[in-house]
Amino acid sequence: MAVKMHVKKNDTVKILSGKDRGKTGKVLQVLPAERRVVVEGINIIRRHTRPSRENPQGGVVERPAPLAASKVMVICPSCNEPTRVGWSRGEEGAARVCAKCGKTMD
Ligand SMILES: [Zn+2]
Repeated sequence: MAVKMHVKKNDTVKILSGKDRGKTGKVLQVLPAERRVVVEGINIIRRHTRPSRENPQGGVVERPAPLAASKVMVICPSCNEPTRVGWSRGEEGAARVCAKCGKTMD
């Protein structure tokens, strides 16, 4: 069974800890097995790469590294607030619900 994550791809999340604390960004990727997420513009690492076909110059590539899903809070699209996520059991399985305004987030 898939691991249920409170974060989904394309969510906007707020970063709760680390050097990017307080920033917000869009979730680019969710890694349920590691309980990690990749967030646009957050936890940027610089990688020095050799020249390759895609990147003939080589050099430094900046990209977001995965961070623990527990370090982010979903921003509810209905009330626009960072919120905890509740679950409601519907006919189509569990749906995410905003703990603040009660609206479904999926
Ligand atoms: Zn809400």
